[in-house]
Parts: sequence; structure tokens; C-alpha cells
Amino acid sequence: MNILVINAGSSSLKYQLLNPETQEVLAKGLCERIGIDGKFTYKAPGKQTIDAVDVAMPTHSEAIKAVLDALVDPQNGVIASMKEIDAVGHRVVHGSETFACSVKIDERVMAALEECIPLAPLHNPANITGIKACEAVMGKDVPQVAVFDTAFHQTMPPVAYTYALPYEYYTEDKVRRYGFHGTSHKYVSQRAAALLGKPAASLKLISCHLGNGSSITAIDGGKSVDTSMGFTPLAGLPMGTRAGDLDAGILEYLMNKHNMDINEMLNVLNKKSGVLGISGVSSDFRDLEAAAKEGNTRAQLAIDVFEYNVRKLIGAYAAAMGGVDAIIFTAGVGENSPAMRLRMTAGLEFMGVKVDPEKNNCRGKEIDVSADGATVRTLVIPTNEELMIALDTAELAK
Ligand code: ADP
Repeated sequence: MNILVINAGSSSLKYQLLNPETQEVLAKGLCERIGIDGKFTYKAPGKQTIDAVDVAMPTHSEAIKAVLDALVDPQNGVIASMKEIDAVGHRVVHGSETFACSVKIDERVMAALEECIPLAPLHNPANITGIKACEAVMGKDVPQVAVFDTAFHQTMPPVAYTYALPYEYYTEDKVRRYGFHGTSHKYVSQRAAALLGKPAASLKLISCHLGNGSSITAIDGGKSVDTSMGFTPLAGLPMGTRAGDLDAGILEYLMNKHNMDINEMLNVLNKKSGVLGISGVSSDFRDLEAAAKEGNTRAQLAIDVFEYNVRKLIGAYAAAMGGVDAIIFTAGVGENSPAMRLRMTAGLEFMGVKVDPEKNNCRGKEIDVSADGATVRTLVIPTNEELMIALDTAELAK
């Protein structure tokens, strides 16, 4: 079975063709500058790589056509015809309270997706465009499935998702914590259960997805019970360029003082804050580590603030669940930085967390890095959102 996984943005589209049963990735790549000029990238094992070549892409439909043409190309393709694509799985950012799991797309689902747009005005329209483009190019007979970033967190109890605002803002305007990165948190929590050889239903896990965007989730019995991102992905940890949690009173103060409107303020909070804002150096932790080594104190402070907030949330979620069996590190930083993993878990010995520096000295592989005597396991689990999307899609397309 072959599943085409699509992650459509407003001017880009990532794709991957994979077999969820064997987990083999047949081909993957990226369409960029859709609606501008169009650049196409394609990579498949044993085939010639196409690297950001010019392909006209006035709309997402031409982008999908370019993907399909490359996949079925007689010399460089990986399948003989489009018929070998059994279903398409789409990453959709926001499913509101309507979607607590992945769904097969039909007209009713499309209408519900449109209703979710006000909650994610930058992302959901692009996801919908990607779905429509696939249907236009591939026809209505190929099943399409929507997999939501928010769905995994729909199990959160009201005590975790309710903001202390006038309640009508929830009932009338849908303002609540939704949480994001759900596909990743779900995937690594399932892998953690497999790695520990225990049913997910019996485990309390804290999953730390630390990349450009970062979020931490408390997962009790296989269900998300709290998560650090909120109504939008701007909340929670400080990130590469996003501020994370802050006092809303700061907005009024800065907007008045610097004569900024709300769009300018949000641009600062989304694109100029986080570890980039603190350091003035970079949003990339590799650059920050290098600068800190050379004595840049603001780069060091940015790293310290990030790590401190991760540690603090781990403690908070252990308290929220009344215990924890394992802490999972995933995504760019979580999978690749042994030094940061060591520092983020330092000081948590009181609750049974103990990392073995030698086991921890690894990158990008699934491993239990706990030291002897640890009563809380520390796991490194590379995330694979595409595989999770393909697995859900295959299940629903059956
Ligand atoms: P995204 O959230 O965009 O999917 P990733 O999960 O790919 O991001 O994470 C990207 C981030 O991971 C980079 O910005 C970088 O800070 C961090 N990263 C990647 N490799 C390392 C490393 N070896 N050491 C420290 N940080 C790393």
C-alpha cells in the first residue's frame, strides 16, 4: 500500500510517498514559491535528485501535478502509474473541537474544515487548497484523509484547556487551549510504549517536542491531558523566534510605547522573539551553542532560558499527572543535542530522572538513555509525523 502524504502551506507543499506497512519511503520532496514562480525538489533512493529546479506553479494544482509527474516518470519515478497511490493523507493544522481524530474527507468534512478557518487563518486555508488541488488532479476516487495537529489533544480535560476569561469567550468564540504538534506527540508516545514494552494505557509520559517550534505534552494512559501550546502555537515554551508564554500586559505597554499596532506586535512575538530575540544571534540552537562557547553571554542566556522552561514544565506535568514513567525527547533539538538533553534533565534527580552521559551521547536514534537506578526513564525518540499520517490514512482508507 502506498500513501502520499501532503503538508500544504500557503506557498509551499511538502510531500512524501511511503508504504506504511514496510515504513519504506519511496520518494519525498518539496514544492516552493507556489504562486510566485515555482521550485521543485524530488528525492528518491537510487534515483536522480531534482534540486529546486524551475517548474511553473501558479497554483497548488500545478504543484501536485509536478509531484505526480515525478513519481510516475518512466526513468526517474518510483511507481508505474497514479493507480499505485492508494490514498492521500493531508496534514491539517486545526480541527477545532470538531475533529478528535483523523477523518476521511467528504463534502461534510470539507464544510467543517472551512468552519475551522477563523481559528487558524494562516494555515487551514492552505491545507484546504492542498486537498482541493489533489482532488482536482487525482480525481474523486482516490481517498483523502485529514490528520490534525490538534486532534490528539482533544482528550484534555476542561481543567487543562479552560482559560480564566469570561466563559462566553469559550462557549461563543471557541477560545480555549487546543495544543499543536499532536501527530508528533502521539507518534513518539506510541513508540515509547513499544520501547518500554508496556501498554500505553499503563504509562504516564511527558513528551518534549523541541525544534524550531516547541511544545511539551503530558500523556496519561495514551491520552493527552495537558500541553504547552494554547489557542495558537505562540504559547508555551520560548521557541526559535516565538515568545511563548508572557504577561499580556506587556503588549499594551510596548504597543503604546513604540506606537505599534497589533499586527506589528504579533510580528515581533512570532518572528523576532524566542531564543533569537534574547540572543540577537540566531534562532538555531547550533549557532547559539557556538556563540555561547565563544563567550556570547546573551546566546548563553537564551539557551539557559529555554532549558529552564523545559525543566519547569516537566516538573509541572509530573505534578499534573501525579507521577511520570518516562520523559521523551524528540524533534531537532530533542533528537540531536546530547548536551541540551543533559542540562534539561539536570536537577530532576529528586524525581528519579537520571541520564547516562555515555548512552545519551547519540543522535537521531530510538534509545533509552537512562542511567542505572533511574526510576523515571529518559527516552530519545525521533519523530515521524509523515509515518503517523500515513498509518492513520491507510487505516481510514481501507
Ligand atoms: P521544525 O520545528 O521546523 O520541524 P526541527 O524539528 O527540524 O524544526 O528542529 C530544527 C531545530 O533543531 C534547529 O533550529 C536547531 O536549533 C535544532 N537542532 C538541529 N540539530 C541540532 C544539534 N545537533 N544541536 C542542537 N540543536 C540542533
